[in-house]
Amino acid sequence: MAKARIVIDRELCKECHLCILACKKALIVATAEFNSRGYHPVASGDGDECTGCTLCAVTCPEAAIEVYRG
Ligand code: SF4
Ligand code: SF4
Repeated sequence: MAKARIVIDRELCKECHLCILACKKALIVATAEFNSRGYHPVASGDGDECTGCTLCAVTCPEAAIEVYRG
């Protein structure tokens, strides 16, 4: 059971991939989908290893990631 989970707002994502670099657990992945602004939004990958560290959310310049603990 994961300690935490993240929710990514795909419409806010600008595909900078800073969150992918920030997550030490490699839980965020690139996608081939398009959002309405023409970017490929990232997604939360499979796995239940999210620690809720918030590094991804703090790193995101678009504030597109929310972290939920517990
Ligand atoms: S909260 Fe931490 S562990 Fe969870 S996806 Fe974000 S960077 Fe990775
Ligand atoms: S840091 Fe934010 S804007 Fe950049 S890829 Fe991740 S979710 Fe998208």
